[in-house]
Amino acid sequence: MAKPKIGVYVCHCGSNIAGTIDVPQVVEFAKGLPAVAIAREYKFMCSDPGQSMIKDDINNLKLNRVVVASCSPLLHEQTFRRAVQEAGINPYLFEMANIREHCSWTTEDHGEATEKAKALVSAAVKRVYYHQPLETREVPVNPNTLIVGGGIAGIQAALEIADAGHKVYLVEKDPSIGGHMIQFDKTFPTLDCSACILTPKMTSAGSHHNIELMTHSEVKEIAGFIGNFKAKIRKKARFVDESKCNGCGVCMEKCPWKADSEFDLGLSQRKAIYTPFPQAVPNIPVIDKESCAYFLKGKCRACEKFCEREAIDFEQQDKIVEIDVGNIIIATGYDPFDPTPIIKYGYGKFPNVVTGLEFERICNSVGPTGGKIVLKDGSEPKSIAIIHCVGSRDENYHEYCSRVCCMYALKYSHLIKEKTKADVYQMYIDMRCFGKGYEEFYKRLSKEGVTFIRGKPAEVSDRAMSEEEKGKLIVVGEDSLLGTIVRVPVDMVILCIALEARADAKNVAQLFSISQGADGFFIERHPKLDPVATMTEGVFIAGCCQSPKDIPDTVAQASAAATRVLALISKGKVELEAAVAVIDEEKCSGCRICNLLCPYNAIDFIEKDEVSRINEALCKGCGTCVAACPSAAITHKHFTTEEIMAEIEGVLV
Ligand code: SF4
Ligand code: SF4
Repeated sequence: MAKPKIGVYVCHCGSNIAGTIDVPQVVEFAKGLPAVAIAREYKFMCSDPGQSMIKDDINNLKLNRVVVASCSPLLHEQTFRRAVQEAGINPYLFEMANIREHCSWTTEDHGEATEKAKALVSAAVKRVYYHQPLETREVPVNPNTLIVGGGIAGIQAALEIADAGHKVYLVEKDPSIGGHMIQFDKTFPTLDCSACILTPKMTSAGSHHNIELMTHSEVKEIAGFIGNFKAKIRKKARFVDESKCNGCGVCMEKCPWKADSEFDLGLSQRKAIYTPFPQAVPNIPVIDKESCAYFLKGKCRACEKFCEREAIDFEQQDKIVEIDVGNIIIATGYDPFDPTPIIKYGYGKFPNVVTGLEFERICNSVGPTGGKIVLKDGSEPKSIAIIHCVGSRDENYHEYCSRVCCMYALKYSHLIKEKTKADVYQMYIDMRCFGKGYEEFYKRLSKEGVTFIRGKPAEVSDRAMSEEEKGKLIVVGEDSLLGTIVRVPVDMVILCIALEARADAKNVAQLFSISQGADGFFIERHPKLDPVATMTEGVFIAGCCQSPKDIPDTVAQASAAATRVLALISKGKVELEAAVAVIDEEKCSGCRICNLLCPYNAIDFIEKDEVSRINEALCKGCGTCVAACPSAAITHKHFTTEEIMAEIEGVLV
């Protein structure tokens, strides 16, 4: 191989780098490093002229190694690898020094920042000297997609991919798709009926020839890599034969046994054989073993007797279905915050303190009260307090803003005013009306006779201090605009609860090898530039599993995830990373330590040869096995000992 001839390019990144670091000094320093043939500076190396500068030098000066000192490799490593490749050299003969995030943004002293930049440039130059060309491989992309979660995000993504002509497996753990959105009454700010806008989409997803609905099902296992995943899905027994049932509902009518309805949050009851709500998709009931008399006591079978189509099947077992897909979209949504631990608000103690989601059901015309806003005793409330930020913007629970509570609180005011004569009190910290039409909605609601009290209530109590307070719930707090303590006697209190990461988010994250933030939501590849991808290629996220968001943002994100999947499908193939680990089988002792440690299950033990072997398609190049191998049998291509030692030597200049 030809002797290394290195070009070094130091970026100003506008004033991001040049405002702190003395770029010309770094360039002069780089010129003096061994094997450096040219060193230059430019305002924006990532721009077309910046890239052309590198390409021209490669051609004119016959450079065979390149170092760019600029921003994070996460942002532009691919940009520069592509540039050097276009100029005819292997993309792995390139190295990046991050003098923005590691120097100018973190080191206040200009002199120190410049010295640090020199050290990082020196490290990159010494390292690139030992780089070897690596070859990437292409694998075909299976055009089928797995979508996990059948709420609005999952449905939207499924329809977009299916409409484009590709097969989708839509897996939902509940017996019907619809998610939380189908539980809502109206949606803000347009006050559309939530079910009216969602059910057509649910029906389309249910009947689409390219969508295979797998409700009452859970993903149990995932193997493989982008373009080529294998998923094992457990289809839980419904005890109803889907191919025979026509959804007539006679079984549910005749079933004599009841349990609390999960869909109505325990505010109503359903039968032991049930569909969660009347417009369920698919419209096939499911038997709940926990409340079915036959499963509990060995007798009854009323549903079976009355089912003319002989669809009831008590012998049905859970089934494991295996599917092959190329891409995965996770749209598992959120859990509503349980306000019981906030004892001061009396949820669970006072029957007329309800959560926002419970109020949605109370308001809903097909809900437990037929849409009448009533107290537990059936009477109409004369006054209602709506408390914002319950469990959100609170360092004891969730510090983040849940983004929807202000708006749904306003929506509740409107619905209360529309259906009752009650006085309404909104008790808020700030009004956050950030979306399209939201501020206008707030202004409109302000004119509907609602009383706004700025300040987070301290408690909800039943200790009356006056005649007027007797028999009421008293919301006690400070009106921070007036600077006075207020006591507001009301009949009902609605707690606008936070949105939190689902209780099983950790399991889902492990299953799909994606990361969670401190708040439990899944982490996107880049919050601004790549908000639907994850660090696992081929696995995308959409909706509230990423962070709390409203319906328009959820739908937009689901469409974005679908577009990313469609782009990969239409490309038909993906390039696999070449910087992976490789085992020298001569040195491998067969101890299998690496097999157990690899977080991506990329290493198999080959019994007949008694050695371990890495599946390069699965290896993500994390380096865990390299560090763990007691026989030093594993090398990480692009992170060889030679390269790392040279880098350390370089940084110590
Ligand atoms: S067996 Fe009896 S209890 Fe069970 S679902 Fe059928 S009718 Fe209901
Ligand atoms: S840890 Fe090293 S020696 Fe042990 S099986 Fe893996 S490669 Fe072979």
